[in-house]
Amino acid sequence: LFITFEGPEGAGKTTVLKMVVERLEREGKKFVATREPGGNEIAEKIRDIILNPAHTAMDARTEALLYAAARSQHFAEKVEPALALGIPVLCDRFIDSSLAYQGHARGLGMEGVRSINEFAIGDRMPDLTILFDLKPEVGLARINAHSGREINRLDVESLAFHTKVCEAYKILADQNPERFRIIDASKSLDEVVESVWEILKNEL
Ligand code: C5P
Ligand code: MG
Repeated sequence: LFITFEGPEGAGKTTVLKMVVERLEREGKKFVATREPGGNEIAEKIRDIILNPAHTAMDARTEALLYAAARSQHFAEKVEPALALGIPVLCDRFIDSSLAYQGHARGLGMEGVRSINEFAIGDRMPDLTILFDLKPEVGLARINAHSGREINRLDVESLAFHTKVCEAYKILADQNPERFRIIDASKSLDEVVESVWEILKNEL
């Protein structure tokens, strides 16, 4: 069982995943929780290259390929072995982030980005994707209010960019209704955790 958390900036994916993980651990469940880009040594190094605020010259195609490279490594080294043992995997971002950010928001086209990702991971898609639905301006406001967050190269992107990201997630959810579960991420943290928990407890 492969479950991914998706959504725009500031939607609370990382925070909620952390809280859900604590709850699953208390219940003694076996699972792997991880994140993208990153999740293991090589992929975290690629993450540092992609997100380095000094790398303002990075070409959009280079960016898309580096995400795919990080994903390939993380998938082969961590996700696939766990799934092969029947251990559920919860992942903060996955291929839909690339389709939304590089494919749609950066304008490379979802199909091109999908094809480099097929090379990276084959046809393995998440079984379930929880989409944290949030207006882009709300997400950006949350990020600006949260000073402890690491600064990255994407932080200079405009509201228009983030609006496109949200648009893309809606398109992906419409195209894959059987895979996507949409939750309202504008609610309080406790309420969002509860919505995610409702979905997970039936699956895990
Ligand atoms: O989710 P997280 O905050 O760890 O993502 C780090 C940064 O990478 C974010 O600014 C996110 O917008 C960006 N990102 C991206 N394209 C992806 C995945 C993440 O631009 N495919
Ligand atoms: Mg996050």
